[in-house]
Amino acid sequence: MNSVCSVGLERLAEAIIQRMTIEIEASGRHVHLSRGDVEALFGTGYQLTKVKDLSQPGQFACAERVTLKGPKGEFTNVVILGPERPDSQVELSLSDAVSLGVRAPIRLSGDIKDTPGITIQNGTRQIILPRGAIVAKRHIHMTPEDAERFGMRDGQRVSFRTFTERPLVFGDIEVRVSPKFSTVAHLDYDESNACGFHKGDRGMIVG
Ligand SMILES: [Zn+2]
Repeated sequence: MNSVCSVGLERLAEAIIQRMTIEIEASGRHVHLSRGDVEALFGTGYQLTKVKDLSQPGQFACAERVTLKGPKGEFTNVVILGPERPDSQVELSLSDAVSLGVRAPIRLSGDIKDTPGITIQNGTRQIILPRGAIVAKRHIHMTPEDAERFGMRDGQRVSFRTFTERPLVFGDIEVRVSPKFSTVAHLDYDESNACGFHKGDRGMIVG
């Protein structure tokens, strides 16, 4: 085979792999805040400072950091993700929840009914959230176009094999379809560390 042809085949193989697989991202512990809670923690009229866009359109990391406090421990320097939401929410890994002493249930983002509270601190200001501590259920964001291509519908639960240093198949990963999304699989740090994830690694729906 001549070299021009093999380069063409390599590109074709790369394109096919890209189409059949889904990029993985690891989400660390983070906080979403309501308008009222931003003002309680930072002052009346305060606006969060966007420093980095995230993969999902319109979502961003903020410059401001807070401290999370539970009965058994605390985490400093926790990132706030914007934009503001109707209800504040704190997303932890199961390891984080154990360290804090908070019995956070595994939920999809936004589903905070009957979840435990947590204390959020910024300097001398502090709020006690009555609810909102969750462990984010692993999920795959998907555009409607990719959902059609993969034969997936919103809410479908699938298994997902990671092509990572320690490959794992994660069962019960929920597909979420919206035109507001870009296609990416979200794991938390417990999950990403368990499979030896490195930035840029991909995975595949296997059933
Ligand atoms: Zn996500």
